[in-house]
Amino acid sequence: MGVPISQMWTVATYVLKQRIQRRKHYPLVLMLEPLFRCNLACAGCGKIQYPAHILKKNLPLEDALRAVDECGAPMVSIPGGEPLLYPHIRELVTGLIKRRKYIYLCTNALKLKEALEGNWFTPSKYLTFSVHMDGQQEHHDFAVCREGTYDVAAEAIGMAVKQGFRVTTNTTLFDGADPNSVRKFFDEMMRLGVEGMMVSPGYAYPKAPDQQSFLRERSNTNRFFEMLLSNRKKKWIFNQSPLFLEFLMGKREYECTPWGNPTYNIFGWQKPCYLIQDGYVDTFKELIDGTDWSQYGRASGNPSCQQCMVHCGYEPSAVNHTFASFGGMWATIKAMIFNTYANPAAGKRLDEEAKKPHGPMVHLANLTIDGEPAAKSEAERETVEAA
Ligand code: SF4
Ligand code: SF4
Repeated sequence: MGVPISQMWTVATYVLKQRIQRRKHYPLVLMLEPLFRCNLACAGCGKIQYPAHILKKNLPLEDALRAVDECGAPMVSIPGGEPLLYPHIRELVTGLIKRRKYIYLCTNALKLKEALEGNWFTPSKYLTFSVHMDGQQEHHDFAVCREGTYDVAAEAIGMAVKQGFRVTTNTTLFDGADPNSVRKFFDEMMRLGVEGMMVSPGYAYPKAPDQQSFLRERSNTNRFFEMLLSNRKKKWIFNQSPLFLEFLMGKREYECTPWGNPTYNIFGWQKPCYLIQDGYVDTFKELIDGTDWSQYGRASGNPSCQQCMVHCGYEPSAVNHTFASFGGMWATIKAMIFNTYANPAAGKRLDEEAKKPHGPMVHLANLTIDGEPAAKSEAERETVEAA
């Protein structure tokens, strides 16, 4: 697993302490959104559609640090918007390192080179740049709707690695992604020297401009990740719970843990999770005690949760499983040792996939046919692809 021993130890002792205290709703990673502004406008983004006066706002630094103290999670992820546009990003990172929090600073890397050249940060085991990379050059530039972005990000990753920073990638995969290309992308990222990679299916944000591209069927998501992550190369390192990856591959079933990655932003604590906005409260205690958690997750029947398999809901479930029993611990150890997942049938499907057309032009053709919206159902989509 692509996580240093010290971080694993911190998380393990934290989780065991929560379990000894019989605390059910404990957070693992605080999702701290200091702003919604971004220097990109990706079609699958569910965060940048706010009106201009909201996009201009920055979370006050003292509020951000108070939220970190209130929450107590050992890891803090800083998504956005683009956190490198946050005017207090340096002070925020310094404050988090002082608190010994493991930070994942999520960035599209457009400003990372400037930050590195300007010595905004110092390498630390607590600080990781988690760079948004959605695939090989053509796929990434298409997904983020701007040409040249892959090259800029790849150069910044190389620089950050050379300067001794921890760097990971985070990749959101959408319907129609080419598993063979994503596997080549894994090779490229490992060659760049990243510590590990994170993958997740995208969440079908109702506000995102491109609604056609989300992986909506769980079985399709499982089929895709089984092809992608079976017959794994030894050199690929994932910065994620191995049991979460097995969940994506359809090898195990979990229920969501929405309180595992609580979200704080300029509106307050977001109910219930990073993906759904069912209101805001002022304190972390109100979020935990005042949310009817039975209304969320697949078993609740909540339509917003039925197809969700996103890491912010399910990775905490996988981590809890690891520490909940000897069975979970043994499954994790096994997944770390026998990590290639040989599967000839999945390999065959991967070969068949290589014969199909993929790439942005196919995606565009699927989005609009003669000016009409594309076929929506899986069966219709398969017919369009086969034609
Ligand atoms: S880089 Fe991230 S925050 Fe910015 S538009 Fe893309 S998905 Fe949204
Ligand atoms: S299933 Fe997904 S959308 Fe529903 S509460 Fe969990 S993380 Fe949020």
